[in-house]
Amino acid sequence: MIEAKLDEVIRQVERARIRVSEHHIVKIVAVSKYVGSAQIEALYKSGQRAFGESRVQDLKSKCDVLESLPLEWHFIGRLQSNKINALLSLNPSLVHSVDSYEKALEINKRATKSVACLLQINSAKEASKMGVMPEKAIEEYLRIKEELPNIALKGLMSFGSFSENTQEVKKSFEITHSLYEKLQKEGATVCSMGMSGDFELAIECGSNMIRVGSKIFK
Ligand SMILES: *Cc1c(COP(=O)(O)O)cnc(C)c1O
Repeated sequence: MIEAKLDEVIRQVERARIRVSEHHIVKIVAVSKYVGSAQIEALYKSGQRAFGESRVQDLKSKCDVLESLPLEWHFIGRLQSNKINALLSLNPSLVHSVDSYEKALEINKRATKSVACLLQINSAKEASKMGVMPEKAIEEYLRIKEELPNIALKGLMSFGSFSENTQEVKKSFEITHSLYEKLQKEGATVCSMGMSGDFELAIECGSNMIRVGSKIFK
């Protein structure tokens, strides 16, 4: 049952966040890219509100079907330029995957009102991943913030290193988190990192938003 799986994730999150601090609050984004609207609705009934999708087309069809529910949609996938208008028309509550200044520029150009976004950091410097290199991150963040009025930057998003080595994964989370700490004085409030395989470690490294898919839906 997906409700039981969600409950188990909530328990794990609870234990991990308490290890950081009782005041450390973590938001769970249920990544629903693996399932259809019926399962999203089932999870909604057990209290889940935030859902993440990685393809604009899927997000659109699920938004349409579930329109009557007060859901919060997060876009977490690689955003192609020709899909930006479609995405913006769906009013996502947060776009996690702004992976360059150029991408932010394109969103800014097409947006008619401010769009909440995170800057994606390639903290493990893996060629297969998108995102800004850590040493450029602060500069790019500030440049987006100063130059692009329709981009409301809320913080950072990152993947843990794909490594089997826990220390490597931890290091990649720590890199993103230390950038996030520096950006808190610029108003950053979201540090989105951690997925099914590594969210407890991500939380212990300071993540306050996790994107969990397979652990809930598979
Ligand atoms: C699919 C996906 C997730 C969820 O991954 P799981 O390992 O299934 O929990 C998180 N973030 C992004 C960007 C994804 O594409």
